[in-house]
Amino acid sequence: MADQCPFCSIASGSSSASMVYEDNNVLAFMDLNPISVGHVLIVSREHWENLYEVPEETLGELIAVVKRVAIAVKKTVGADGIKIIQNNGRCAGQVVMHIHFHVVPCFSQKGTKRYGRVMENRNVLDEMAQKIRKNL
Ligand code: 5GP
Ligand code: ZN
Repeated sequence: MADQCPFCSIASGSSSASMVYEDNNVLAFMDLNPISVGHVLIVSREHWENLYEVPEETLGELIAVVKRVAIAVKKTVGADGIKIIQNNGRCAGQVVMHIHFHVVPCFSQKGTKRYGRVMENRNVLDEMAQKIRKNL
């Protein structure tokens, strides 16, 4: 566990998150500042900074959960498409230095589902996480 890492804090239980999925090696939870409704993050339980460092076995487990969560999110929010984002390094847009994949729903008719980053209410995120869990 890395000091001051927000995802290690969630993995250890010292910070809370709207949890969608967890097992021994992988966690999935709602992004606090969603790009769109249903935006989920998939992270390794162990602290690896980025794609270059994460062991291939862990990467395989992460991507398997990305697939499952993507299908469940698409169904839950009625998305027309799903974007998978994985940033490595600050110039790529990585802010949290703990490997993670973004599952971001996309909608054909922009405006029908809120776009743009806003700090989402935790109750709203908890409800969304519960709905996604049911579709996993
Ligand atoms: P990055 O830009 O590093 O690829 O994305 C980091 C993501 O983590 C951002 O979308 C941001 O909203 C999200 N995030 C940062 N801190 C927290 C947190 O403490 N809890 C949750 N649920 N999401 C976070
Ligand atoms: Zn970490």
